[in-house]
Amino acid sequence: LLSINGVHKLFNGNPVLRGVSLDVAEHEVVALIGASGSGKSTLLRCVNLLEQVDDGTIHLDGEDITDPRADPDKVRRRIGIVFQAFNLFPHLSVLDNVTLAPRHVHKLPAREAEAKALALLERVGLAGKARAYPDRLSGGQQQRVAIVRALVNDPRLLLLDEVTSALDPELVGEVLALIRDLKTDGVTMVIATHEMSFARQVADRVCFLDGGVVVEEGPPEQVFGAPREPRTRQFLQRIT
Ligand code: ATP
Ligand code: MG
Repeated sequence: LLSINGVHKLFNGNPVLRGVSLDVAEHEVVALIGASGSGKSTLLRCVNLLEQVDDGTIHLDGEDITDPRADPDKVRRRIGIVFQAFNLFPHLSVLDNVTLAPRHVHKLPAREAEAKALALLERVGLAGKARAYPDRLSGGQQQRVAIVRALVNDPRLLLLDEVTSALDPELVGEVLALIRDLKTDGVTMVIATHEMSFARQVADRVCFLDGGVVVEEGPPEQVFGAPREPRTRQFLQRIT
């Protein structure tokens, strides 16, 4: 479904991604792990075309989305992304936050967009909050709304960037539970995370980035249980 090939990205001449390749199959969940600054967010932003790659290609469903002729808006319609900070619009209700893109970008009739949004909010246990404003919601609830907003367009791929790092520990669980449900539903996801235990439980494959390269990737049992690369071992030792 997603194929990243030899992607390079420089910021002001500094290489941040140095030839990253990664394939993600349909329904697969891939966790990106690695130290702060290793390039996880940059990689996700390249996939969503929020950053332009300097070299290499990214294919989504066989289409080269890094081709300059690709339409970024069309590509982004097929990819949902959720960041660490929930980025909900404070002046819009939960329902309006969720239906904004389907109504204005995808030109879905308001009633249809709302029905879909309500069904999704119901699923994540937030139907009762549809008319509330974000500041009346807990961090965990806001993040679940942000995930619903990313899902309302039926994306082919969901990118999650540290979606639990801004949350109080007691709220992390509800967001992780939602991600686990999405996996059960077959949503294809790439998840940048510092939550190693979660990556271990939910990911089909773990990809360890260091200094802008994929140092090691494999099933969680292997990467966490029996890492092959010294750099992976060092990283895991440092954080546990
Ligand atoms: P973290 O775990 O802290 O989220 P990360 O793995 O997501 O880290 P990135 O955010 O991808 O790391 O950053 C990788 C490197 O790129 C860092 O050195 C960062 O300073 C640099 N960088 C990221 N975005 C920009 C930018 N817009 N301009 C300049 N440098 C940037
Ligand atoms: Mg990051």
